[in-house]
Amino acid sequence: MSYRFIELEHLYIHWPFCPYKCHFCDFVAMAAHEEFMQQYHHALLKELYQNESLMPLKPRLRTIYFGGGTPSTYPAELLLDTFGTLRKLFDFDQTTEVTIEVNPGTVTPRLFDVWSEVGINRLSIGVQSLKDAVLSSLNRHQSKQQVEEILQQASGYFKNLSVDFILGLPGVSDEEWKEMIQEAMSWPIQHISIYFLTVHEDTPLYFKVTRNKIQLPPDDSMVDLYNWTVDYLAGYGFERYEISNFAKKGFRSLHNAAYWNRKSYRGFGLGACSFNGIDRFQNTKNLGKYIQNIENCQSVVDMAETLTESQIMLEKLMLGLRQTDGVLVKEYITTLSLDKHTKFFENIALLESAQLLSYRDGNIQLTPKGYVLENEVTLKLFS
Ligand code: SF4
Repeated sequence: MSYRFIELEHLYIHWPFCPYKCHFCDFVAMAAHEEFMQQYHHALLKELYQNESLMPLKPRLRTIYFGGGTPSTYPAELLLDTFGTLRKLFDFDQTTEVTIEVNPGTVTPRLFDVWSEVGINRLSIGVQSLKDAVLSSLNRHQSKQQVEEILQQASGYFKNLSVDFILGLPGVSDEEWKEMIQEAMSWPIQHISIYFLTVHEDTPLYFKVTRNKIQLPPDDSMVDLYNWTVDYLAGYGFERYEISNFAKKGFRSLHNAAYWNRKSYRGFGLGACSFNGIDRFQNTKNLGKYIQNIENCQSVVDMAETLTESQIMLEKLMLGLRQTDGVLVKEYITTLSLDKHTKFFENIALLESAQLLSYRDGNIQLTPKGYVLENEVTLKLFS
């Protein structure tokens, strides 16, 4: 099955290689596979060419995102080659947001030169924690010193730096979390993402938690710390625009906003997801199969779905509520039957009285308490 894109402004490239495999990770990522980098790179470029006729002719891109895995381990010569191909197939310039995910400890100054040269203009740096011992216990081998070095070096090249933290890592006290966020406010960053730790099934962390070898911090304390973090970041001009994302004025992530606003995007590479406005599909996560199928000019798509009208509406509602702009109710209710329509407004009233939601001028938004219970609120709204 081939999926055609009528319009396309957002491109995702997946680089699955990592220097280690973190114990909490369930991304399409693999350590100790460096010998496949070159082969994978060639398959990736072939996948781009094989899909050229299914995309608009040289579409003008608003965003390009290199995610992983650890894309900062993409060898410079190969990355230059990739951008040569991207420039043949797509139209982009310095106004296009071009992000690369970076892990501290994986970058040399030569890479910064290459990234600037090819047009990368935004780094998303995976800090996660400044407690070296905590990270190392989760098999993530980076140090606070490497974080400081990369920020100091990168700020000489890039004016759009983002850092990621994970809230709820075992072994980080409330005070230590606050100290880390306070320290981050002295960094030359314009964007910060705060993700709650998720314990994914079948990860080493999952087995440690289920066998009681690791204690996770209590939920209540996470809620308090999250609310403290929102207020603290606001004091430094970092406005929350999505549950996990905070930006200084003019530095919201355009690429992530495209996902949240259900714009079309095309992903290339292992396990990459795509959406053409109607169909959502995902490439195989099996490296051998990916490379072989590309070589044989066969499809690498492993999963595809076409959402029904009500699934689309639920998705819009969920994605919209995660954003501080909220959701315009009138866009949602047109597809509801009369009884569901009544129930929906009853649910809004209930959630408002529980101070989980606010309803003003036809727009619903989560309250600070509602953000923390976002899943429950969405399910209740749709019940
Ligand atoms: S570096 Fe990132 S992608 Fe790689 S294993 Fe760790 S969390 Fe996963």
